[in-house]
Order: sequence, then C-alpha cells, then structure tokens
Amino acid sequence: MISFDEAKQRVLEQIGPIQAAPEEVPLRQALGRVLAQPVVAPAPVPNHDNSAMDGYAVRSADLTGQAVTLRVVAEVAAGARLLTPLQPGEAIRIMTGAPIPPGSDCVVMQEQAQRQGDWVTIPPGQQPGQHIRPAGEDIAAGSTIFPAGRRLSAADLGLLTALGRLTVPLYRPLRVALLSTGNELVESGTPLEPGQIYDSNRAALHGALRCLGVEVLDLGIVRDDRAALEAAFQRGGAEADAFISTGGVSVGDYDLVKEMLAKDGKIHFWQVSMKPGKPQAYGQLGKAHFFGLPGNPVSSLTVFLLIVRPALLKMMGALPEAPRQFQACFRGQWQKRHSRMEFLRGIAHFTPSEAQPDQAPWVEVTGAQGSGILTSLAKANVFIILPEGPVQLTDGQPVTVQWIDYV
Ligand code: AMP
Ligand code: MG
Repeated sequence: MISFDEAKQRVLEQIGPIQAAPEEVPLRQALGRVLAQPVVAPAPVPNHDNSAMDGYAVRSADLTGQAVTLRVVAEVAAGARLLTPLQPGEAIRIMTGAPIPPGSDCVVMQEQAQRQGDWVTIPPGQQPGQHIRPAGEDIAAGSTIFPAGRRLSAADLGLLTALGRLTVPLYRPLRVALLSTGNELVESGTPLEPGQIYDSNRAALHGALRCLGVEVLDLGIVRDDRAALEAAFQRGGAEADAFISTGGVSVGDYDLVKEMLAKDGKIHFWQVSMKPGKPQAYGQLGKAHFFGLPGNPVSSLTVFLLIVRPALLKMMGALPEAPRQFQACFRGQWQKRHSRMEFLRGIAHFTPSEAQPDQAPWVEVTGAQGSGILTSLAKANVFIILPEGPVQLTDGQPVTVQWIDYV
C-alpha cells in the first residue's frame, strides 16, 4: 500500500494539460476557466492621468507657503476632456475620474478648498502630484498581466475588460465521465425497496465537478455486473479525458471495478494508506485517466478533493497551487491507533472561544467520523491532518488543517 503523498505525486506525474488548440472564448463565459496563453496589456490602465478626488486641478507652481486664491475658469467631469492649458492663477473644478487638464499637476480635495463664486481659496500644505492617478498606475503597457495557466476570477474578468479585451484564449473544457457502481443504488425520486439506498456519491461528485467548470458525462448507476461495467467503461474511456467511478474497488465479492480496469485498461496503483479512502484505484482507461473512488460517501468525496481535484486542475492547464494549510489549536480529545494518514473532518473557527480567549484559529471535529457519515463532511470547512502512525490529540494541541476547497 502506498502513502497518500506518494499516491498524489504519482497521479500528478502521470498528468499534463490537455493537448488541444486554444479556443477564443467571450469573457462572460470565461469565469473559472484556464488561460492557454499569457495576456499582455496592449495599453496602460488607466490610459490617461486622472483625478482621484472631487476638487480642483491647480498648478503647484501657484501654491506658496500661504493660502492662495485662484480663479475657477472651467469644469471637467469624468468622461469629458479639456484641451486648453491651465494658466497661472487659474484653477479648474474637477471630478473623480476626469482627465487631468494640461498644465495642471496637482488636485486639491474639495473638502479643503473654499469656493466663493468664480474664486477658490486653497490652504497651504498641498503636494505636487497629489490625488492624481497616473496613466499606467494599475497596468503598464506591454506588461504580462496573466501567465498561461491562470484560472480566471471575477476580478480578472474586470481587468481584462479594462484592457479592452472581448475574448481570451482558453484551454477547452475538460470532459469527465462519472458513474456509480452498486446493485443497492437507485436514482432519487424512486421509492426505496428494503436494502436500497439513493446514489448520493454521484450527486456530490457532480456538484464538485461543476465547481471546477468541467463538462460531466454522466453515465449513471451501473450494476455490479461485468458486462454493464464494460459497456460504460468503453464509452467513458473513448469520450472523456478523465473517468471517475465510485464503489466496487474494495475486496468484496461484488467489487469488480478493479478487475475490469485491469482487463480493459491499466492499473497504476490500488489502495492508499489514508483514512478515509483506503480502497481506491488509479489507472488508465482508453484515453481517460481513471479514478476508481471508494463507495463510502465520505471516502469518495474526500479522495476527490485531496487527489482527483488537483489532478483535474492540472489537466485543465491550471498552474499548481499548494493546498491551503495552516496551524490551528485542537479542541477536544482524539486518539488514532491505526497507521494510515487520517483526514478528520473539522470546523475551524477564526474567532477565539470563551473557554480559550487567546487561541485562534481553533478547530474541532464535526462529530462522528465514520466514512458513511456524510454530515461529517457537509459540516466541515477543513480537514484535520493526522500523520501516519499513532496520534494522541489533547485539548490545546496545535494541528495542521487544510481548507476544504471545492472551487
Ligand atoms: P463498496 O465500496 O461498493 O463496497 O461500497 C461501500 C459502501 O458505500 C457501501 O455501504 C455502499 O452501499 C456505499 N455506497 C456505494 N456507492 C454509493 C453511492 N453511490 N452513494 C451512496 N453510498 C454508496
Ligand atoms: Mg459496491
């Protein structure tokens, strides 16, 4: 059995960005997708010097050590432009975002100026260049604002629009086949016969895949039957970049996924020394990377979040990001006797508790931690990471936690 770190590393080593020509996509459809090429600014942002305040544009040469009264000769608002240069002794009423008039090199805040009719009195203490946002202060012309591999955020879409972009070159969306195995599974909406359960794994994984913005090829529920599995495997292996199944990778009599993967594809490894999530298989099926996840609901989603998600992001072309881990103060007691690495589901709190007012962030387990208890993961915002070997956690002990990232 290989360690969690080795499993993750071996998966990431096998995987590279999908090879396809970039597609030019309108910005409104680009959120969460990955740039296939860097973006270089064709022009500065902002593209003209402009006022950061409502006030008066003046010449700093006119300002002496004392209060100075200037004649207000014009007004300029955002969207307008003045061409006549400011002359000595003059001021221009200016609004936030308006271009700085030629000849002016200083903006005085309206709150500091005293206006009377056509005249304005400026108190001493103004600095040349103040309250002016120079052209290019945000983005210099010719600079690379995003490298290839950037996953576009909402702020990124704003920046790209500020640059005048309408479209961006992106990796094509990833196609991921998804199925559940198990004779006990039924689609929600159907009444349950004794012994049956609803297919919660596929619902959770479908949601997790949608968070990544991939295209899901939903292959439904497949019975624990060699022919049925083979048919589904053939379709997913031919059409998808990645293939995710749940259930059937353990050692029971009806656990056929591993057997069929070995027959129709290739197994790179099976079983990982982690809890939850020991029974899992990674391999290749047709042109798809195959992730055979455990059947237990907590296990399948945990393995997805910790191993499959980083792998899919790499396939999507995204630059690698370290898992968001930090130290927190453990509250409660926990004893681990088994040797596997464990990912307890926890709730991290960022404000101190009454009991320990000087300790934050602190973390507690979400309650019972069985791998079938999906509420343990639903309530959690972090995994509490317990290393291999026996661990005894007591109140107040520091622990490493990892933020649960879906998006
Ligand atoms: P397996 O690995 O197939 O033996 O499944 C382990 C446990 O997970 C069993 O209790 C299954 O009933 C349960 N399980 C398997 N697949 C699902 C699923 N799609 N949704 C909910 N529970 C499941
Ligand atoms: Mg099963």
